[in-house]
Amino acid sequence: MLNPRTPARATADTALAVRLDACLPQTQCRQCGYPHCYAYAEAVVRGEADINRCTPGADVTIEALASLLGRTASTADPACGVKTERQCALIDEERCIGCRKCIDACPVDAIIGARRFMHTVMAHECSGCELCVPACPVDCIRLVTPPAGRGCTGPWHDYGADEAVRWRQRHAARAARRRDVQQPLPALAADEQRARRQAEIRAAVDRVHRRRQHGASRPGQPSAG
Ligand code: SF4
Ligand code: SF4
Repeated sequence: MLNPRTPARATADTALAVRLDACLPQTQCRQCGYPHCYAYAEAVVRGEADINRCTPGADVTIEALASLLGRTASTADPACGVKTERQCALIDEERCIGCRKCIDACPVDAIIGARRFMHTVMAHECSGCELCVPACPVDCIRLVTPPAGRGCTGPWHDYGADEAVRWRQRHAARAARRRDVQQPLPALAADEQRARRQAEIRAAVDRVHRRRQHGASRPGQPSAG
């Protein structure tokens, strides 16, 4: 047989990739060397990547992957970076030129703004992946401690299971939207998407105005979204 990857095998591989992907915190940070978390899970299934490449997931993820695959947990691969405390992006809105490059870079749609207007990070949606920082041409994005009060319900000590689910969904929606650039959306879906984005932008602008009015904006303290 020329191709040993039968349909049944492909289905089993997909099922395993989904289970492995559920062990990843879904920051979509690319530190593993793959374009997104699911691509890394697929590479592990194919035997192309080791189980120790998810820096944000760290030991918790390595042990979960090892358990699923019946292997021994190894130490994190230093080539994939060093595990640090979780951070959140913060835009200096006074310096933002509204170029949208950070929006293009953000894998989980955590940044909103309109071209030539200030942009804002929705702190409660930010995975801390850092991909927006080098994308900014005027260097007005920095990483700060996330807002307090984030409850971590997942296996990781710094990411919640609910956040991982949301980041996976937001990343998938972004990927679908990008594919749809070549194929115009049905009018209703396009209208709904536009209305949702406009509502998010209005809410962010209102929050910034309120912060400025009440003098609540302090350097280093991102909005709670
Ligand atoms: S705002 Fe920046 S750090 Fe946060 S998820 Fe988006 S790209 Fe990553
Ligand atoms: S990349 Fe920087 S300057 Fe451009 S919109 Fe984002 S924060 Fe503003």
